[in-house]
Amino acid sequence: MQFSDFPLDHRILSALTAKGFDTATEIQAKALPHALLGKDLLASSKTGSGKTLAFLLPAVHRVLRTKALSKKDPRVLILAPTRELAKQVFMQLKWLTANMSLHSALILGGENFNDQVKALRRGPQFIVGTAGRVADHLKDRSLFLNGLELLIFDEADRMLDLGFASELKAIDRAADHRKRQTMMFSATLDSAELHYMTREMLNAPQRISVGQAN
Ligand code: ADP
Ligand code: MG
Repeated sequence: MQFSDFPLDHRILSALTAKGFDTATEIQAKALPHALLGKDLLASSKTGSGKTLAFLLPAVHRVLRTKALSKKDPRVLILAPTRELAKQVFMQLKWLTANMSLHSALILGGENFNDQVKALRRGPQFIVGTAGRVADHLKDRSLFLNGLELLIFDEADRMLDLGFASELKAIDRAADHRKRQTMMFSATLDSAELHYMTREMLNAPQRISVGQAN
């Protein structure tokens, strides 16, 4: 499947063309139709199969094409297990949205808290971050997720392995289930803890599994 076969905003298609990406990977081709319809997703596929764009393309499309639920709250929150992985997601978001007037913030542990408070006050539509620090900003009331439209867990199994279960629950509770879409990506889908999380946090998710996960 070519990216142009999907009903993606032309600005997204231009960014992909400029990058030299024309063919969707299998996970992208399978996830996009459901994600673009606003359905919850539980997906797994191996490392390097293009999961980042599988969630970034529908996320950016939604922000470009629909009116925000809230003027000040972020519309999309993407959580990743480590600083390094969050930075990689942020870099892909940056090139994808380079020619769009969209704002994003990277919220990582180990960085200056007050600088992040200032960045959050500027009202980014997208936040990419690690769960611990994002949960700290919720506690500090420097971040509100009442207007959140899309919550994305990248490498959910790894976030649980790293001990972020309580932070993930706090973030989930802060973002209204009735208003938001949730996408969860994971290498494996069979752990008991992940099963609990998917039952609590996802609404009738479409399950997508490509090949053998790692
Ligand atoms: P995963 O999260 O599944 O491990 P990534 O999303 O990090 O994989 O993608 C791996 C690499 O493949 C990245 O460098 C990304 O830019 C590239 N990539 C993703 N989708 C495509 C595509 N459709 N065509 C070409 N390259 C792609
Ligand atoms: Mg990844």
